[in-house]
Amino acid sequence: MIAVKAFDAIVIGGGGAGLRAALALGDAGKKIAVISKVFPTRSHTVAAQGGINAALGNVQHDDDWRYHFYDTVLGSDFLGDQDAIEYMCKEAPRTIIELEHMGLPFSRDENGKIYQRAFGGQSRFFGKEPVKRTCAAADRTGHALLHTLYQQNVAKRTQFFNEWFVLDLVKNQHGAVVGVSAIDIVSGELCYFMARQTVLATGGAGRIYHSSTNAYICTGDGLAMAWRAGICLQDMEMWQFHPTGLYGSGILISEGTRGEGGRLLNSQGDYYMTKYSSMADLACRDIVARSSMEEIIHGRGCGPKKDHVLLDIRELSEETIAQKLPGITEISKIYAGIDPKQDPIPVVPTVHYLMGGIPTTPYGEVINHKNGKDEIVPGLFAAGECACVSVHGANRLGANSLLDIVVFGRAVGQRIQEVDNASQVQEASRTDIEAAFSAYYEMEERTEGDAFVSFREPMQRLMQDDFGVYREEEKMQKGLGSLQELRQNFHKSAYYKDKSSVFNTSRIEAFEMRNLLDVAVSTAQSALTRKESRGAHSRVDYPKRDDQNWLCHSIVHYDGGFEKRMVNNSPKEVEPVALKERH
Ligand SMILES: Cc1cc2nc3c(=O)[nH]c(=O)nc-3n(C[C@H](O)[C@H](O)[C@H](O)COP(=O)(O)OP(=O)(O)OC[C@H]3O[C@@H](n4cnc5c(N)ncnc54)[C@H](O)[C@@H]3O)c2cc1C
Repeated sequence: MIAVKAFDAIVIGGGGAGLRAALALGDAGKKIAVISKVFPTRSHTVAAQGGINAALGNVQHDDDWRYHFYDTVLGSDFLGDQDAIEYMCKEAPRTIIELEHMGLPFSRDENGKIYQRAFGGQSRFFGKEPVKRTCAAADRTGHALLHTLYQQNVAKRTQFFNEWFVLDLVKNQHGAVVGVSAIDIVSGELCYFMARQTVLATGGAGRIYHSSTNAYICTGDGLAMAWRAGICLQDMEMWQFHPTGLYGSGILISEGTRGEGGRLLNSQGDYYMTKYSSMADLACRDIVARSSMEEIIHGRGCGPKKDHVLLDIRELSEETIAQKLPGITEISKIYAGIDPKQDPIPVVPTVHYLMGGIPTTPYGEVINHKNGKDEIVPGLFAAGECACVSVHGANRLGANSLLDIVVFGRAVGQRIQEVDNASQVQEASRTDIEAAFSAYYEMEERTEGDAFVSFREPMQRLMQDDFGVYREEEKMQKGLGSLQELRQNFHKSAYYKDKSSVFNTSRIEAFEMRNLLDVAVSTAQSALTRKESRGAHSRVDYPKRDDQNWLCHSIVHYDGGFEKRMVNNSPKEVEPVALKERH
């Protein structure tokens, strides 16, 4: 039995992007629902530490959104769409004030203004001087942001379906998305959520890798759903490695640590970043991650295996550590057994963020790029880490993602207000609905085969070994073959033994595994095809950026097809940033 629940619009995801979209939709008086596989305040946004960027100029008065725009384009290694970057950076100051008025408890400076710290890749006067642009609530900014947005939604009486797992998109015969198939984790009940507009805000997919800063729930569900429904994915090779994942567990040590004055150290006692970049420890993340890898590769790593480096904050004042970095102090004590005031923190580049995703317009409408043409998918929107607007291009600047999720979450909600019309007929046939449950029925009926968990370790190892910081043709070719085989076998033989209804986490994890495998394959296809080094994508066999052939988005289709899509380098109010080398 499949229940049906009908709404004007549904938002899949209760993280920052989903909750901001829901607020905008609620303001328009739409009948909406937010569906989330975890309680909303447990979404990965809660783990964000360092902060959120906006050129408020609270610390240095002459900061300007145009400098933020310039830094973001440069940070993206020119793969970001400049029209979307312009929109985000221009909207940023207003967005921060709006959040502050909603009640977000930002840290303050001595004048009572919102506190701003330094972060990687930030400058003023177009690259001439460093600047402090990252607004923060201690080192728990995501926590403060997510709770603020949740409370606002409660006040607006947003309807929540918490601990519901969305399986697939429902598409009708005209190619419109008309809702989703879902399962209530608590009871096992199946439901077709019928809606004229569906927003995907399902977050990232860092769990395709073995070592990741991402929560266990970051399994790329929305990306895989869209891909399976025939919608292309964009720039999936662009995975950011954060330079400072805690050695061993991968838990994040915020870039804010370096923003406050922390420095990276090798086994010979050198603060090596000055050797690699004029911005030293505050260079862009791709540059810092590669520099740390160089130290490790050349035998200057730390520990008995020489396989990590150290982050030194011993010179920071007790007051800075207590007020600005309480979270990372706690994490270092609990998970590394060290007090960072006395000993440097062991860290290693760790997978952190997906710059690619579901391509959208700057208003969140999903684009399907097919045979060289952009088509808007009727009824489908995407925002947040699962979307690729694209403001981050080949490398995201720290603290630009929290900004992205609130700016574009709001933009999606506003766009739906404009385009949604109750008279639009959006019907799904019984066959359309059944199709979105077919994988569920197949898995339920399978009583023997290979345990679904047995696919996780080989996938994560392949991703870690063959699609890491440095990449090369032969390894990736083999890696892609193995991943495709793994995915095929999963479809043929993966099963879960426990078929019970109530809170069956085995079943949910099996469907997450199915999604992870799709995301892993899409990453491998893209990475193998892009024959250059740009931003986070570093190929030892093609070490240079190749603007002639590869200044374009990479598009992968579910059937294995690959296309190039033009980058938008036409902002409206400012001069486009001219191509140059980054350092
Ligand atoms: C440790 C860490 C620290 C970070 N620090 C910063 C920072 O300081 N500054 C910054 O700018 N960025 C930071 N980032 C990045 C940033 O936090 C994320 O990119 C951003 O919060 C993602 O928000 P989101 O709303 O897109 O997704 P999420 O917050 O991940 O939310 C996804 C939502 O989708 C739901 N969902 C997913 N799949 C399904 C499904 N199948 N069915 C139902 N619901 C589903 C989940 O339940 C969840 O509610 C950090 C990231 C990490 C991992």
